[in-house]
Amino acid sequence: MKLCLLFSLLASFAYAQQPPKIKITPLTKGFYIHTTFRTWQGTLVPSNGIIAQTDEGVVLVDTGWDVPDDQNQTEQLLDWIEQNLHQPVRMCIVTHFHDDRVGGIATLRKAGVRVVSTPLTAESAAKKGYERPEGILSNDTTLVVGKLPIRCFFPGPGHSFDNIVVYFPTAKLLHGGCFVKSYAAMGLGNLSDANLNEWANSIRRLQRTFPNPKFVIPGHDEWDQISSLENTLRLLKMKK
Ligand SMILES: [Zn+2]
Repeated sequence: MKLCLLFSLLASFAYAQQPPKIKITPLTKGFYIHTTFRTWQGTLVPSNGIIAQTDEGVVLVDTGWDVPDDQNQTEQLLDWIEQNLHQPVRMCIVTHFHDDRVGGIATLRKAGVRVVSTPLTAESAAKKGYERPEGILSNDTTLVVGKLPIRCFFPGPGHSFDNIVVYFPTAKLLHGGCFVKSYAAMGLGNLSDANLNEWANSIRRLQRTFPNPKFVIPGHDEWDQISSLENTLRLLKMKK
């Protein structure tokens, strides 16, 4: 009995030490969701980003959820792209300065990938001790990579003062990042840099700007329904 317990303790210890295996899910032609993980307040939390294929290589939105001294998941992400898409990664757009968005920047830089953000995110990430992204995005910038238009838009403060969203008009795909809570989320998550007074106004501005998205991807949790913006508004109302 005692041995058994010891064994299961050892097994769970070994399990806890293993880096999580990342998940890649096809979304629509040329687009995938990358999901990486980290333990937050005692539970393993998934974190979503985008892999977009263009004629001239891959564009990522957000790095894996890594920290400066553990880059394993962003390394897994680059390996998966190399083995499955056989295209170089051109660029990564990071949507705010927290570690679930910028954590893998060192690995991307080492691999020669440009990491871009707004000047505010670049500044804030550098202050937190990350390598500084190139702060080249204005509050509403459309980049075109290999003919694929990519609109980077600051809807106003919410989850953080610098959160942006990324919209791919050809697929009607809106990546909300942590500014958008999942339709399934029961709470607002990490509020350490949030602006609870402005968040709902910012969500409504986003809805006016992109009235008919086909896919809405929140920073965390499920994304297979498009009611995440409405749920974010509901959660904000409950908080008041
Ligand atoms: Zn987040």
